[in-house]
Amino acid sequence: MRRESLVPGGVTVGDLRRLLDARELSSVEITEAYLARIAAVDDRVRSFITVTGDLALEQARQADRRLAAGETSPVLGVPMALKDLLSTAGIATTCGSRILRGYHPPYDATVYARLRDAGAVLLGKLNMDEFAMGSSTENSALAITANPWDLATVPGGSSGGAAAAVAAGEAAFTLGSDTGGSVRQPASLCGVVGLKPTYGRVSRFGLIAFASSLDQIGPLTHTVADAALVLSVIAGHDPLDSTSAPVEVPDLPTQLGADLRGLRVGVPAEYFIAGTEPGVESAVREGIAQLERLGAALVEVSLPSTGYALSTYYIIAPAEVSSNLSRYDGVKYGYRSDDGVDLIETYLSTRDQGFGAEVKRRIMVGTYALSSGYYDAYYLKAQKVRTLIKAEFDAAFERCDVIASPTSPSVAFKIGSRTADPIAMYLSDVFTIPASMAGIPAISVPCGSSDGLPVGMQLIGRAFDEATLLRAAHAYERSTEWHKRQPALVASAGG
Ligand code: GLN
Repeated sequence: MRRESLVPGGVTVGDLRRLLDARELSSVEITEAYLARIAAVDDRVRSFITVTGDLALEQARQADRRLAAGETSPVLGVPMALKDLLSTAGIATTCGSRILRGYHPPYDATVYARLRDAGAVLLGKLNMDEFAMGSSTENSALAITANPWDLATVPGGSSGGAAAAVAAGEAAFTLGSDTGGSVRQPASLCGVVGLKPTYGRVSRFGLIAFASSLDQIGPLTHTVADAALVLSVIAGHDPLDSTSAPVEVPDLPTQLGADLRGLRVGVPAEYFIAGTEPGVESAVREGIAQLERLGAALVEVSLPSTGYALSTYYIIAPAEVSSNLSRYDGVKYGYRSDDGVDLIETYLSTRDQGFGAEVKRRIMVGTYALSSGYYDAYYLKAQKVRTLIKAEFDAAFERCDVIASPTSPSVAFKIGSRTADPIAMYLSDVFTIPASMAGIPAISVPCGSSDGLPVGMQLIGRAFDEATLLRAAHAYERSTEWHKRQPALVASAGG
């Protein structure tokens, strides 16, 4: 196989595993091919903030030595990239913000440490909305990433770089983070698979915090099988994250099958509402019909509080932002303004110059919601609604095993079309936020196309039951061709 033919065309982690284990290609050859692809397309896609070429080749050489010694792992020798809020010791980690300019973390995120120990190769760090706040990657202080399917449209967000990199063939897989939809929504808009695991399934140690009760790291991949492979490497209890769950991780990659007989798929009326683009709704309805053809039984379920999830999220997440982002003061690390004449003024001008508009908006909303006199009316009430949302999912999962819905109400929208209207932007996550609030796992899989742009179907599962979720998503994917479609850019780019 020629190197040039390797990267385009959606080569999977599973494909690379077979090529590496059969010694048909070395990790160095594969890594060089990905670096060439990045050089060929990334001036247009702008997925990467930092490319770690020398490190990648060094890690690839090490992987080749380990392969030669007879070792293997799902990701040994496989090139990947990380959203730029995952700490990488000694490598710039910006969080898409000016305020972390010049910051080189002194330690690695657990997910990176696990991938590296398993032999994955780090190609670089990926663009994102500042502090993961956004749905289009236009809130990055560093660049605007384009959707590889149509460079005039957004890749979604906040893990837009992570989704676009996979879609453009710039990495075999990537890791993003999902607080209210930031893995699933960009996966949907870029035509790739995005999995948000159960809260607590994957360690958040070294993930720069946005809203700690919601943040969860997840893989973006070409296939569901790849998502299972990557999750099997990064999942599991970590003593460094007190919210990581001491729950055993099943052998996910071996539990995938093709048959859905006996599976009950819940279809909630509240997820098929006005405001969803007709092309999205029809693709998702067809996806659900396909699940039925594969042997699943469809059941109607009701999640009555769905309509409150978005507004509840926009109290709880900003409240946590107001606390988590208070650490950026220009004193300990990152950017410091020279304009202040004393300590307080230095804090103020550093934060004024270092944070973008959306981050400031959330700090203000969150601080207001937590302030004395308003706490009960906003934050406490929101927490009660959150409990209700979780209870409704629990009740629904007595009648079904997974829930199917659209991932996002629209396909990729034009760059600049929603930046002036925060509410329109927030609505991108109306279907992904409820599972985040409940802490349960959910996946987006390509299920169709509308106006030539990809559509994603979301499947939501029970807490810690990624196995059933992945089984359903995999069976669906195997029975369709949507995941095989590639943007024209990939075929034409060379590299
Ligand atoms: N778009 C949502 C927000 O802006 C979700 C972001 C995320 O999941 N990180 O908060």
